[in-house]
Amino acid sequence: MAERVIPLVDQRLDARQPFFSQQPMPPSGLLSDARGRTLHDLRISVTDRCNFRCSYCMPKEIFNSHHPYLPHGDLLTFEEITRLARLFVHLGVRKIRLTGGEPLLRKNLEILVEQLAQIRSPDGGPLDLTLTTNGSLLQRKARALKDAGLKRVTISLDGLDDAVFKRMNDVDFPVTDVLDGIEAALAVGLGVDDHGHPSGLKVNMVVKRGTNDNQIAPMARHFRGSGMALRFIEYMDVGNTNGWRMAEVMPSAQVLDTLRQVGPLIQLSAQQPGETAQRWGWAGADGQHDPALGEIGLISSVTEAFCGDCNRARLSTEGKLYLCLFAHQGYDLRAMLRDGSSDERLLSAVAGTWTQRDDRYSEMRAQGVAPSEFPRVEMSYIGG
Ligand code: SF4
Repeated sequence: MAERVIPLVDQRLDARQPFFSQQPMPPSGLLSDARGRTLHDLRISVTDRCNFRCSYCMPKEIFNSHHPYLPHGDLLTFEEITRLARLFVHLGVRKIRLTGGEPLLRKNLEILVEQLAQIRSPDGGPLDLTLTTNGSLLQRKARALKDAGLKRVTISLDGLDDAVFKRMNDVDFPVTDVLDGIEAALAVGLGVDDHGHPSGLKVNMVVKRGTNDNQIAPMARHFRGSGMALRFIEYMDVGNTNGWRMAEVMPSAQVLDTLRQVGPLIQLSAQQPGETAQRWGWAGADGQHDPALGEIGLISSVTEAFCGDCNRARLSTEGKLYLCLFAHQGYDLRAMLRDGSSDERLLSAVAGTWTQRDDRYSEMRAQGVAPSEFPRVEMSYIGG
C-alpha cells in the first residue's frame, strides 16, 4: 500500500485572542453560549504524546519519530491548569475530564489530580473528576490516582482479539495488559458507586467498519455482568490525518442490532445534561435494567449528532481554549497566565469566548454543510 502522506497543518501555531466579556458571570450562575448551551464540562489535555498510534486519532505514518511534539516548557504547569480549572468552575464547570494524548504519560499526574480534587463548586460540592486513558499504564497508576482524589475513569479498548486490537492502535500492546488495568481500577474502587456497582468505570470502543466491528459482540459478552458501562463510538472525521470515510462508519443503530443478539436491552434516560452517550441497560430476568449486569452506551456523533446540548469546553496541552472537537482554532489563555493577568481578566476572557460560541459541527455534517475550508484541530492535541 502506497505511503499515505497527509500534510499536517500545525494547528498548534494558530491561536486567536480570546473575546472578553464585560459581565463574566450572569446572575443565574449559568454561562450560556450563543445557542443557550451552558458551560458544564471541561476536558483538559495534559500531553500531546501517546504510546499508542490509533489509526482514527494518531496515525503512525504522520505521528512518527519526526513529529515535533510540544516541548515541556510549552505545556501548562499543574499550577496553571489548576488555576484555570478553578476559574472555569466559577463559570459553571462541574465535571473535569483529564485527557491527552495519553494522560498517564504526563509525569506525576497524581499531583495534578490532588490539586484539582481540592476544588469545590460555589455551593461547596466536589467536582466530578475523571480521566480517559488507553489503560496501558493504569495497573501501575490506579492506586495513586484514586488516593489523589480521582473519582472515575474511562478506558479505551477497541477489541479483545490481539490482532484486531493491533490493527486499531498500531502498536504491539496486548489486550490483557489493558484488562489488567481495568481490574486494578476496579480493585481500588475507581468508578465504584455507593451500591458497589462500577457504573462509573467506563470502557470505550471506537467501531471502524471492516476493521474491528467483529469485536462488538465479544466485547459485549465480556463486559455484560461486570456492572460497567461499555460504550461504542461511531468513527469520526476528527482532525485531518485519519483518512476518514463514511463507508467505515458503522451507525449505532446497526451496533444496537448486534448487541441485541447478546442479550435484552432497555433504553435508559440520560444521567446528566449534555451526556454524549445514549444509554441502554442490560435487562435482568424481570425485564428491568439490572445494574449488576451493567449498561451500554452509544455515542453517535455521525448519525445522531448531539450538538444541541453540548456543554463541553476543551483546554489544549499548552493552554488554548477550544469550543468544539472539530474546531479549527483555539483561543490562547496561556499568554494571559504568563503575563500576570488577573483572575478577573481571565474570567472575562473565558466567559466572553464561551458566550459567543456557535459551534455545531456534527449537526452541520449531518446536514451536508460541514465547514471544510479550514483544517480541524487534531484530537490527540485537545483530547477526545
Ligand atoms: S461536534 Fe462540536 S458542538 Fe457538536 S457535540 Fe461535538 S464538540 Fe459539541
